This record gives sequence, C-alpha cells and structure tokens, in this order.
Amino acid sequence: MTSETRDIVVVGGGTAGCFAAATAAQEGLDVVLLERKSEDDGGHIACGDAIKGKSTFPDVIDREYLRQESFTNENIRRAMFMNPDGENYDIPFEDGKGAVCDRKRYGEVLLEEADRVGADIEYNTVVKDVVQNGTVQGVTAVRRGNPIEYEADVVIDAAGSLSFLQDKVDFEGTNYDTNVTYQQFCSAYREIIETKEPVEYDDAIVFKPTEKLGYLWYFPRTGTEINAGLGFQMNKPPMELVSVLKDDLENQPEFRGAKVKDKLGAALPTRRPYDSAVAPGFMSVGDAAGHVNPTTGGGIPGAAKAGHWAAEVAIEAIGNGDVGESALWAYNRRVQTDFGKRFAAMDLYNIFGGAHEMDELTEVVTALPGQMLIDLMGKKGSVSLSLPEKLKAAVITAVRTRGHWDILREAHQVNKLAGQLKEIYDDYPDSPEAFESWQSRRDDLMERVYDVTGAEPKY
Ligand SMILES: Cc1cc2nc3c(=O)[nH]c(=O)nc-3n(C[C@H](O)[C@H](O)[C@H](O)COP(=O)(O)OP(=O)(O)OC[C@H]3O[C@@H](n4cnc5c(N)ncnc54)[C@H](O)[C@@H]3O)c2cc1C
Repeated sequence: MTSETRDIVVVGGGTAGCFAAATAAQEGLDVVLLERKSEDDGGHIACGDAIKGKSTFPDVIDREYLRQESFTNENIRRAMFMNPDGENYDIPFEDGKGAVCDRKRYGEVLLEEADRVGADIEYNTVVKDVVQNGTVQGVTAVRRGNPIEYEADVVIDAAGSLSFLQDKVDFEGTNYDTNVTYQQFCSAYREIIETKEPVEYDDAIVFKPTEKLGYLWYFPRTGTEINAGLGFQMNKPPMELVSVLKDDLENQPEFRGAKVKDKLGAALPTRRPYDSAVAPGFMSVGDAAGHVNPTTGGGIPGAAKAGHWAAEVAIEAIGNGDVGESALWAYNRRVQTDFGKRFAAMDLYNIFGGAHEMDELTEVVTALPGQMLIDLMGKKGSVSLSLPEKLKAAVITAVRTRGHWDILREAHQVNKLAGQLKEIYDDYPDSPEAFESWQSRRDDLMERVYDVTGAEPKY
C-alpha cells in the first residue's frame, strides 16, 4: 500500500470540505481533499440550490468568481408560503436579496478554488477507514482499485449526512456526540425542471406544506428553470417522494408540458448540531455534524462556516503540537455560540410540529393574520406590529382560532423555551471539563419541551 503524510486530510469535497481545505491551504498547510466522485461528477449534489448571498461565505476563496459563475438568480427578495387553502404569505428578506444557484457549477467552482489556493484534490478516492491509535492519525482509501494510506495530524470529516467515518472512529473516552439516529434526518428529493413560460414567482423561494410533516419547494434558478423538491422526516412513515412531487407538479399550471432535466435525492440532518464534533485528531463539519437549519433544510452556510472554523482551529492546534480534544474544543464553542444556538432553537419547532397532525397545524396557520404568522416565525420572536394593529390582530386571532387555543398556547411556550435555549447555548463551555454540567442544564430544558408538546424525546 502506498502511504503519504500530510498536515490535514479532508474527507469529502462538498461545501464544508472545500472551505476547510481552502482555509488550511491559504495558511500554507499541506492539505489533501479526498473525494469519492470523479472530477466530472464533482459538485453534483442533491440540493434546493437556494443561498442567502455571497457574503454567506468565508473570504478564503474568490467569492465574486463563485457568484458570477454559479448564482443564476440573484433577485430573490422574499419567501412565499403557498397556502393550499387560501391566502399565501410573503416574508420579505430582512437583509437584502438571496440567490438560487446552478448547484453543479457552484460545487465545481468550490473545488476549483480549493485547488487554486493550494489544496491537493484527489478524485475517485473512496475513504474506507480511519487509522487510530487513541488519536485519529489518518485514513485508508482506495483509488481506482489501489489501496492508499494518508497519515495526518488532523482528519476533517466532511463526508456529509450520516458520515460513515463516525462508524469507524472509536469515540470511547471522548465527548463526541454519538447520540445520532436516522430518525433525526429527513429524506429529500429534487428535480430540475424547465418550464415553457417564466413562472410568476421568479423573485421568491416558494414553500408549500405537504400532507405529512414536511414541505415542498419551488426555487427558481431562472424564470424557466425551477428546482422543485420535497422531503419527509424519517421519524414518520416513508413518503413516495417521486410520486408525491409528480402529483403536485401536475396540479400546478406552470409545470404543464415542462421537461425534467435532472433528478437527485439524499438524506439531510434535521436535528440540532452535534453537541461536540471533535475527538483527538478528528473534527466533523457540515452535514456530518448536523450543521443544517432543521426547519428549512438550509445547510450551505453552516457547512461553509464550519469548514472554515474547523480548519482555523486545526491550524492552531497543529502549530502548538497538540491535537487532543481540549485543543480542538474551541471549534465546538464557535459553532454553538453562532448558528448552533439558532439551529438548536429551530429544532424545538420541529419537535412541536412533529407532535401534531399537519391538518391541525395548517388550520391554525390559516386562521392567523399574516403579519402575526410572520412575527411568530421571526428570528428574534419580536413583534413588529404597532399597538392598535396588535389589538386588532389579537381580536381577529381570538375569533378565527377558536378551538385551537391549546395549540397556540403551546406554540407560545415553545417560543419562550427556544429563547431560553439560545441563552444556554451562549454559555457553551470553553473546555470539555464543564461540558457535562452544560449538557444537563440543556437537557432539563428539553424535558420541559417534551412536557409542553407531548412529543417523544428526540435525543
Ligand atoms: C434535497 C436537498 C435539498 C437541499 N436544499 C438546500 C438549499 O436549498 N439550501 C441550502 O443551503 N442547503 C440545502 N440542502 C442542504 C445542503 O445541500 C447540505 O447541507 C450541504 O450540501 C452540506 O455540505 P457538506 O459539504 O457538509 O456535505 P456534502 O455536500 O454532502 O458533501 C459530502 C461529500 O463527501 C463525499 N464523500 C462521502 N463519503 C465519502 C468517502 N467515503 N470517501 C470520499 N468522499 C466521500 C461525497 O461524495 C460528497 O461530495 C439540501 C439538501 C438536500 C438533500
């Protein structure tokens, strides 16, 4: 078997892996990124293709080049919630415009950029196992039938959802989060569709509830090229994704006579980020560590940031000659006090939603005045209505939602608990020593969530 020695080995050439590799290479480290796909297939990943904007990305690649090459629709100004039973709701984007991209080209550019700034990219390389002696010291892989071993100070696991590497590492004696089950994931499927005429919502990302808890989306790459897809939570009975999407599209006039250009499906995490994603010599990033907004399925920004931060922390640890759990811990804190707390809070709404029937939730949503719904879903839980508007909304709500007060009260309590949860995540410990007491404080709050919602414990 051939053997190579590097500073960092990154497994997986998606968003997280490319940002990790680019960050390390920019700092002059010897980094190799191993990707099982061929170069031609690199970047072909199941996705809804919606991105907040180029500022979402750490500044270690040429972001302007990425934008020009792959952002095909930069005019997304709102999220539209299609209500099958009545009025649609629009949520304008607070901070500027969003984008929908050509996901294949986007993925190719990230790989190109990681290569340009100095990372070695090895395609057709399937990683099979880790080399571990307490500390993870490398990986073994097969490239075109030939076994190869890479030794490294740090292995960055960017292998995506339900990363197989986590079955190979012995996490005994570490705090790495192994409380991971497939029920905390969503199975999703999307098609790229060419319509005959431009759609009316080319400035919106469109969401529509499905019968089982989950949603369908139409994200316009251009006026006539739409990414349409859907998913279901894997703690619910499986849904025939392909046929449900087909039935839906048949009932939407804009998709009559349209051509399907590409089809792809995958699992994505709809859970809180891993409590700890580090072990000696080992760090998980992106989908491999649950870095996805569990209510929208948006994982690109989290993957990019996590890849970047993990590499930054790894560089420092390697420089100090210590890649133990404590030395890599700063990465956990960085994630949890940033998007980690938001995603953990959003997860409570998933838990709440999962404990109710879709019909019940849709009825309540239909009964709420639009602005109140927007406020309820707002980032900070803040209410932007003036006092007279609030009174009017309260009266309308009281009349329309008769019979649903219990669920509204529950939603309100979940909202409050979500706020408290974020505060707990702000106190995420600086070192593994205080981790257990932090976890037990967080778990006490989760108990209250299960009490309020009647949901089965998710973790
Ligand atoms: C249907 C769907 C729609 C989505 N829509 C959106 C959206 O609109 N917006 C958004 O922001 N996010 C969306 N997401 C989530 C987003 O795509 C992911 O969160 C993001 O791609 C995660 O990036 P990653 O780098 O962590 O993993 P991935 O992009 O999955 O990359 C993992 C890489 O690892 C490689 N790999 C795996 N195993 C091995 C191995 N053994 N050896 C070598 N290489 C290996 C894979 O080939 C792959 O290239 C969606 C996801 C799905 C499934």
